[in-house]
Amino acid sequence: MTRFTRIAWLVLPLLAGCGGVEPDFRVRDAGVLVRSDAAFTRSPDFPVRVESTLQAALDYWGGTWTDLAGTLIVFDGSPHVACAGHESSTGCYDGDIRVSTVDAGEPISCVEATVLVHEVGHAVIGDPGHADPRWMDFASLAGALEGRTGYASAGLVSCMPVANVWRHPPRG
Ligand SMILES: [Zn+2]
Repeated sequence: MTRFTRIAWLVLPLLAGCGGVEPDFRVRDAGVLVRSDAAFTRSPDFPVRVESTLQAALDYWGGTWTDLAGTLIVFDGSPHVACAGHESSTGCYDGDIRVSTVDAGEPISCVEATVLVHEVGHAVIGDPGHADPRWMDFASLAGALEGRTGYASAGLVSCMPVANVWRHPPRG
């Protein structure tokens, strides 16, 4: 056994144990990976905001943190995220969650304005065809997330949680 293979034997099982991707931080038993330079993902309050948004989403969909255990949540700086069978999704749930941090070419200002809440819905209730009426009735949830700070490269801006959720296409 060469020196290299000895090292490989030590390292490979560690990588395999977490799907080959090490999250930037964890929220409960979910991992969070940032592949974006959107200002809100660089803000010190980002982990806390992710957790409170996930909590609100779980409350809305009737889920618990167990539904997100082992899930990797990726914030992606490209306009569309990889999603099997969907060419132009702004979000995806396939066991892991990927959400874009860009809307119509502009960086999104806060985690509450990504389609994260929508994708948590798929994690909790499945329903890929969006038959459940809750998909288009986020008023109570939006109210719970209103009034928070948004971030842009030039400074603080407003954070509007509702608009992006409603504009998410009824697929993906
Ligand atoms: Zn969907």
